[in-house]
Amino acid sequence: MEIFKPLEIKGESEKPTTEATEKIKCLIIGSGPAGYTAAIYAARANLHPVIYTGMEMGGQLTTTTDVENFPGFPEGITGPELMENLRKQAERFGTDIRIGAATAVDFSQRPFKVIIDETKTILAETVIIATGATAKYLGIEAEKRYAGRGVSACATCDGYFYRGKDVAVVGGGDTAAEEATYLAGLCRKVYMIVRRNELRASKAMQQRVFNTPNIEILWEHQAIDLYGENGVEGVVLVKKKGTPEEEIVKISIDGFFLAIGHKPNSEIFSNYIETDPVGYIKTIPGTSKTNIPGIFVAGDVQDPHYRQAVTAAGSGCMAAIDAERFLAEQ
Ligand code: NDP
Repeated sequence: MEIFKPLEIKGESEKPTTEATEKIKCLIIGSGPAGYTAAIYAARANLHPVIYTGMEMGGQLTTTTDVENFPGFPEGITGPELMENLRKQAERFGTDIRIGAATAVDFSQRPFKVIIDETKTILAETVIIATGATAKYLGIEAEKRYAGRGVSACATCDGYFYRGKDVAVVGGGDTAAEEATYLAGLCRKVYMIVRRNELRASKAMQQRVFNTPNIEILWEHQAIDLYGENGVEGVVLVKKKGTPEEEIVKISIDGFFLAIGHKPNSEIFSNYIETDPVGYIKTIPGTSKTNIPGIFVAGDVQDPHYRQAVTAAGSGCMAAIDAERFLAEQ
């Protein structure tokens, strides 16, 4: 991705806003719970926020079915409905919601320059990054075939639908260990599908897995297909792939959970914004502030730990309040 060279920003009178270049107080990039909540707060604080929704308007929740753990909805709500409500609430206070994706940035000076869809330029006094994270998938065709019908990348979101049933979790890291132990509390049996003969998870998490009687680890197994008539009924695995003992194994399950990592959507900011080695944007602890004053971050792009809609929304609120205070101090 091209990163633009530092811009020469002139005085306001010398640089009129044109159709291709627009100057605003607060730009929010991303339209998940973090972005919309930031917009609600920023709009109510008169920052006249503009949101660019990104490619997936509404974010990861638009691909889930029922959301039963977002506070305030005792009967639950569907992911798309929740996001539609958040969008309407942001709009009600005057947020300018636009379809488009940030494709390049120059954060070397204020106002910050953000290019939208490679054509339009936004000059923003403050930027709230809420671009989210994308769950990694194995890349097998069956994941698409059974999307929403037994395949999930979030045990906390979807585990409840598999109570009393048998499920499999793919991965051997902390996320997989955490999700497997969470699911073990709900499900009859949890298989962990691990491609090597050891877990990557921390020793403490490994111990929790080993101490949970209804988790069975399938060492050196790799999922290659899923089967079932009206949803997932089983998984096809290769055991000890590439060795003389290689064999195909089939296991009956009702749910197939991916836990092989997430990719935070921070690439276009990486020349300016500090991230951890995985790409999660670093914040000044307890705030939404990044290493650049005036640039704030909220939601999954800065959160390797919780990744819940409600925590994303909470951090969106923090980012808008931080942006408002920053502008007030200028
Ligand atoms: P990790 O990258 O740590 O682990 C990914 C796991 O998935 C590994 O076991 C890896 O196998 C496996 N994997 C990756 N690709 C494939 C594939 N194509 N097929 C099969 N298996 C695959 O990701 P996590 O999401 O678990 O963790 C990310 C970060 O967040 C880590 O730093 C972790 O410590 C942290 N975290 C911390 C938590 C906590 O402290 N409570 C909770 C959750 C995450 P292999 O080992 O062979 O590479």
